[in-house]
Amino acid sequence: MTIKWEPHHARGSQTRVHETSCCGAYEWCAEGGQYFVLRHVAGRWEETGRGVYAAARQVWDHLLARHPQRCRRGKLLA
Ligand SMILES: [Zn+2]
Repeated sequence: MTIKWEPHHARGSQTRVHETSCCGAYEWCAEGGQYFVLRHVAGRWEETGRGVYAAARQVWDHLLARHPQRCRRGKLLA
């Protein structure tokens, strides 16, 4: 899976964060019926995987599966 991060621009409705990864590296968000993953890098927000729930959720799961190697806390996901 290729993960492409793009600058996050809120589109219309309010962005809601529903879940945050172990150390806050990624956030699972919903915005007006679309879902995506947010990350905060170098002072700005980037998003990836924007789309319907199932497609975006695959991106989220992929990121979290690879995340323990680079976790800021060095803590493995349960
Ligand atoms: Zn982490």
